[in-house]
Amino acid sequence: MNLQEQIRRDFPILKTKVYNKPLIYFDNAATTQKPRIVIDTVADCYASKNSNIHRGVHFLSEQLTDKYEESRAIAAKFLNAKATEKIIFTRGTTESANLVAFSFGEAFINKGDEVIVSEMEHHSNMVPWQIMCERKNAKLIKLPITKSGELDMEVFPKLITGKTRILAITHVSNALGTINPIKEIIEIAHSNCVPVFVDGAQAVQHINVDVQDLDADFYAFSGHKIYGPTGIGVLYGKTKYLEKMPPYQGGGEMIKKVSFDKTTFNELPFIFEAGTPNYVGAIGLAEALKYVSNIGIEKIAEIETDLLNYATDKLKDIEDIEIFGNAKHKSSVISFNVKNIHHSDIGTLLDKLGIAVRTGSHCADPVMDYFGISGTVRASLAFYNTKEEIDVFVAGLKRVLGMLR
Ligand code: PLP
Repeated sequence: MNLQEQIRRDFPILKTKVYNKPLIYFDNAATTQKPRIVIDTVADCYASKNSNIHRGVHFLSEQLTDKYEESRAIAAKFLNAKATEKIIFTRGTTESANLVAFSFGEAFINKGDEVIVSEMEHHSNMVPWQIMCERKNAKLIKLPITKSGELDMEVFPKLITGKTRILAITHVSNALGTINPIKEIIEIAHSNCVPVFVDGAQAVQHINVDVQDLDADFYAFSGHKIYGPTGIGVLYGKTKYLEKMPPYQGGGEMIKKVSFDKTTFNELPFIFEAGTPNYVGAIGLAEALKYVSNIGIEKIAEIETDLLNYATDKLKDIEDIEIFGNAKHKSSVISFNVKNIHHSDIGTLLDKLGIAVRTGSHCADPVMDYFGISGTVRASLAFYNTKEEIDVFVAGLKRVLGMLR
């Protein structure tokens, strides 16, 4: 059995049929499918290990608490974070961005300060900063993009002023596939004493991320986009910022002692994990991180780049197609439109052929505004996809366009 067959066997859903056609799943930027080991781990937690963690004195609770904390260590190792205290489990990238925007904002942002956010952000890494800026009377500054779907790196340094307090930026664009030069961006920001929050939701599944090498101040990703469960995510933060940030939510393990006069808070990372955490999700995520690490992120990226190039070449031959996002460095996302045909019509008809793509603005309205469009068709490929699936997709697309023209 070759590697591709082995990989596909690990993902039970890939055998599914929709409308009696073999499923071709090209919506991996929205969420990835789950390998058997993740599904089994989650099921086993509920079937034989379940108990609330941290406060129990009994076997099950202690066992699962250990597993939860082991998962934190696995997440730390995955990002090459120095210590587990810097790893906070959240619900996902959206919650991580909201946590930092709120809490960093409370600690470090005042009236008249500035926050830079790029024009290619997913709404989840833009709106939390916008809300915070409104609350604090601070200014949201746009880092613009260019026609190729890349950040305007000439403009970027000029946006930083004495009032800039933080830069919030995506590592990889979900709408365009652009891989941003995140290390260079962080270097420029740091040379101006500006910390950086990196949205890694579309990055960690394609690129080896080393938060120490990047020197990222905050780095966030979502479990479900890296073959793990939904409802779990990771926020990495530097202690020097986290320890000065007030809690984001109250209750549960974030507390040391409560009285009506005063409540004292737990230490990092627990201070940012209010309520019963998604311990089953964290344990499932750890299995997903082990799974991709065993294959190797470089190997995964190699397979996906090959798929991206193959699909892009085939799509380019289609009459009147326009691909949005032509960056030099791209992840396996292809966003496109075909002249005079609505993206959602294409998606709806492709679905009837068993092909799952996403259409619309991909929660990136500013990107769509920049290109003057309402949305695109987005095919996002993962390492379990194949060239044969791309052939079926391209043939299906031609058939659909023939019907719609
Ligand atoms: N950031 C980017 C770049 C994304 O692609 C997404 C989801 O599509 C998010 C943030 C939000 O992730 P989640 O919904 O898992 O919180």
